[in-house]
Amino acid sequence: MILPDKTDFLPEDGFCELLDAILRKNQLQIYAKDEILRKFYALACILREENAKYNLTAITSDEGVALLHFADSLTAAHLPTHGASLLDVGAGAGFPSLPIAIVRPDISITALDATKKKTDYIGMAAKKLGLTNVTALNARAEAPEMQSLRESFDFAVARAVSSLGMICELTLPYIKVGGCFAALKGENADSELIGASQGLKKLSARIISDEKLVLKPKDGDGANTRRIISIEKLAKTPDTYPRAYAKIKKSPLF
Ligand code: SAH
Repeated sequence: MILPDKTDFLPEDGFCELLDAILRKNQLQIYAKDEILRKFYALACILREENAKYNLTAITSDEGVALLHFADSLTAAHLPTHGASLLDVGAGAGFPSLPIAIVRPDISITALDATKKKTDYIGMAAKKLGLTNVTALNARAEAPEMQSLRESFDFAVARAVSSLGMICELTLPYIKVGGCFAALKGENADSELIGASQGLKKLSARIISDEKLVLKPKDGDGANTRRIISIEKLAKTPDTYPRAYAKIKKSPLF
């Protein structure tokens, strides 16, 4: 028997079946529609093709991409209200922004990242997939050129960028008053929550929910615990935030 090597990926129908099963197992079945599944297969192909040229992600296996990139990103897809504007801070290879864009054509998404290669990739992938609701923006969140975007998004997300205290300072200035930021975290977020309510007061914000969910693979018992921490912006962020990155890092608000 010849064992498949690492570059042997499932063909379109097989990948769509796998993603369909994973979405159903994780109560994400509203997204398990043929047209959507095929778009995700196309995104997996684009991701792997570009990943072979430069490093975008360490996760490339069929189940890894379907579960840890696609399904994980989709756990936040229902959160923005209809027609909302969404900012993804530190979008990297487009997670969670690109999966959300595929299933939410009604919202307009800005995918922000400090690395040009990554925003170029997001722009290219969105174009290839025919996603007209995604704009890739190459800038650092704390950079002065971001000032014009203060208080301008209804909603924000961020996954795997920095500690909660740091990412809140980098993200909340760009949300409208009354808007919400959903931080996608792993199970060990407890230590990041120490001092959060005091720190968030300085940013005129507060935690409104802390949802634990379990991301289940297609087969077997393995599971990844996830947390979505939602933060509401109560009033305008003081102009002093975000501070320079070195300051945020040296003395985070919490
Ligand atoms: N959200 C993606 C990528 C995580 S890696 C995912 O979950 O897969 C973190 C990304 O955040 C990197 O691409 C890095 O370039 C970006 N990043 C880190 N600090 C940033 C900042 N201050 N402003 C903008 N992007 C930042």
